[in-house]
Amino acid sequence: MNFKALQKKIRQLLKEKNAILLAHNYQRPEIQDVADLTGDSLGLSLEAAKTEAEIIVFCGVHFMAETASIVCPDKVVLLPVISAGCPLADMITAPALAQKKAQYPGVPVVSYVNSPASVKAESDICCTSANAVQVVNSLVKDDTVLMTPDKNLAHYAQRHTDKEILCWEGFCTYHDSLAPEQVMMVKRDHPHALLLAHPECRPAVINLADEVKSTSGMLDYVRRSPAKEFIIATETGIIHTLETQNPDKIFIPADERMVCTDMKKIHLDDIVHALVTQSPVIKVEEDTRVKAYRAVERMLEVPRD
Ligand code: SF4
Repeated sequence: MNFKALQKKIRQLLKEKNAILLAHNYQRPEIQDVADLTGDSLGLSLEAAKTEAEIIVFCGVHFMAETASIVCPDKVVLLPVISAGCPLADMITAPALAQKKAQYPGVPVVSYVNSPASVKAESDICCTSANAVQVVNSLVKDDTVLMTPDKNLAHYAQRHTDKEILCWEGFCTYHDSLAPEQVMMVKRDHPHALLLAHPECRPAVINLADEVKSTSGMLDYVRRSPAKEFIIATETGIIHTLETQNPDKIFIPADERMVCTDMKKIHLDDIVHALVTQSPVIKVEEDTRVKAYRAVERMLEVPRD
C-alpha cells in the first residue's frame, strides 16, 4: 500500500477503535501528517489525557509512551515499534540514581522527562527542555540540585541560576555530536539566518545560538518571528513541521546527519499493525506510576515565566 492508502486505513482504524494518534515532532513526515496531534513528549500526553479516546498510539520512543501511561492510566498506550528507545534515557537507571542520591543526601533530584518511568519515580520533580531553568529556580530552599540525565541541559540551566547544579553525565547522541565548527560553517553560508539551538546541544553550540529553545519553543518562536531564514540545531524531523506551518520561511538543518534512528523506526504499516493487534502495550506498574506522576505534577505546579 502507498502512503495515502495506509494513512486512510489508519484514520479508519483510529475511528473504529476510539483511538488517538500522537506523533512527536521528530517523527517521519508521513506519520506527522496522519496524526491527531504533533508536539513534544509531555505536551502530547497532557493533551491526550483531555480526550475521550480509549487508546493512545504513541509515535515516539519508549520513555514517551511510558509518560503517556503515567499521565493517562485509564487509557491503553501502544508504541508501534517496541525497540524504539532513547539512548539518552538509557544512560540512567533507578538503582544508579539511588546510589548517587545516597552520596548527596538531601539534594533534590530534577529529572528531564527524557528518562525512564522508574527514574522519574526516584526524582523529586521532572522538567522539560522548555522549563528546566524555572524548575531548578523553583526549588527555593535548596542551594544545590542534581539534574539527570542530560548533562547539556544541566549546563544550560546552570547559566541561568545561582544554584550549584550537579549533573548526570548523560547526553543525546545526536544533539551532543553537533560540532561548533559545523554550525559555524552553516552560519557562514547563511549569514542572515537566525540559529535556533536545542538545549541538548553542547555548550559550545549554545554559545553560537541566537535563541535556545525546546522543540515547541522553536515552533512558537518561528511562528511569531519576522525573520525569514533559520538554522535549526535539533533533530531534522522538526523541519517538516516548521515548513508546513511556515511556508514563507526557509529552514536549514545545522547538520543533516542529526537524524535519530530510534525516532525513525516507526513506519505507517507499524501503526496499522499496532491498531489491529492492539499491541505492543506500554503500561507502567502502578506503584512506579504514582511516584513518577507526583514528580510530573510538581513540575506542572511551577509557574511559567
Ligand atoms: Fe533520545 Fe536524542 Fe533520539 Fe530524542 S533525539 S529520542 S533525546 S536519542
